[in-house]
Amino acid sequence: ADTAAMSKEPVLAIVTETGTRTSHTAIMARALEIPAVVGVADLLATVSAGDWVIVDGLRGEVIVGPTPEMVAEAEKRRSRHEAFVEQLRGDRERQATMADGTIVHLRANIELPAEVQIALDQGAEGIGLFRSELLYIERATPPSEEEQYAIYKAIAEACAPRPVVLRTFDIGGDKLPAIVPGPREANPALGRRAIRLALAHEGIFLEQLRAMVRASAHGSVRILLPMISTLGELREARRLLRQAIEEVDQRGQPHAADIPLGVMIEVPSAAILASAFAKEADFLSIGTNDLVQYTLAIDRTSRALAHMASHFEPALLHLLKHVVLAAQEHEKPLSVCGAMASEPLSALLLVGLGVRELSMEAAALPEIKEALSRITVAELEAMAEVALTKTTAQEVEAHVRATLEPRLGDLLSGEVSSG
Ligand code: PEP
Ligand code: MG
Repeated sequence: ADTAAMSKEPVLAIVTETGTRTSHTAIMARALEIPAVVGVADLLATVSAGDWVIVDGLRGEVIVGPTPEMVAEAEKRRSRHEAFVEQLRGDRERQATMADGTIVHLRANIELPAEVQIALDQGAEGIGLFRSELLYIERATPPSEEEQYAIYKAIAEACAPRPVVLRTFDIGGDKLPAIVPGPREANPALGRRAIRLALAHEGIFLEQLRAMVRASAHGSVRILLPMISTLGELREARRLLRQAIEEVDQRGQPHAADIPLGVMIEVPSAAILASAFAKEADFLSIGTNDLVQYTLAIDRTSRALAHMASHFEPALLHLLKHVVLAAQEHEKPLSVCGAMASEPLSALLLVGLGVRELSMEAAALPEIKEALSRITVAELEAMAEVALTKTTAQEVEAHVRATLEPRLGDLLSGEVSSG
């Protein structure tokens, strides 16, 4: 919540002692384009008020008390990066097209309504994930249906005719659930989070669903359910969505004839049962941040374990492939909206595994679009096929890097190549 407030203040950079790349503070910082380095041990013992600090979010480096030469070098690096980003942005109107002509749909993840414009400016083909939970945290009562309707309507209108995926609230876990008090949990990530809280508080959930249903009259709205782990939860949510639609109908308020209902695939049980989910849901969206957390049993906020939370883990790749095949079998749209989609090497691996829709923080869109344009689907499929035969994350990453680095070197360093 503190990070969200920073959109209104001139914050130059953030450095924290706790957190990881996929903790929600880091996600917000990227969305707001604030350079950040998280999980820096002993930071507060090292830096005091008035110190000069260089924060290099690309390299994950913090330099306290730099020499004038270091400052000059960092400023040069910043200019090169800004020039690089500007050059990539020039291409924003063009759809992401691979070297062989294959189209990949690139959408944006947003947390704040104000980010819609940033996303469109970066060339997003709509919003692939609106994390609605920020509307709920740091307040004593849930936002009213009217308040939510106004926000969802504005997002839908700004993006129309491009699609907008509104995710129902994912509070709990590392996102504070102030409005639904309950006993402190020993393992919040395994506790009352997201759809579990929604189904336990039907009134609050229905209010959100009605607001989303009404917003569907103003654009292409899809509703996404977070942290689904059983088919029963999807059926229960579908029943409540029908009830919300009926209530909106009874008031004579307009809504779209068809409001697709999708599930996040971010708990291993849902990935394993992907075929059953693909049959019943209207679309699937893979959340790799949580899928890594729950598959590898690595707390996504743990700095000590962050080095183990790799997007190249073979167990993750096999689950992803399984979900891709399930979506194809039932001809349902599939997208990936976790951080794996926002980094060039792992995003291209996803395309090699068969994914054709990626959603990421807006700032990453130009870079991923450029990376895609330099390579063919056949090359990525061959790369993914070999990756699936590897048995450690290190081997997978080395293979992906060796395949892609010759053509993506400048993108991986975040600076224009000298050539
Ligand atoms: C994910 O888990 O990958 C995801 C996109 O959702 P969130 O990061 O909000 O948990
Ligand atoms: Mg998630």
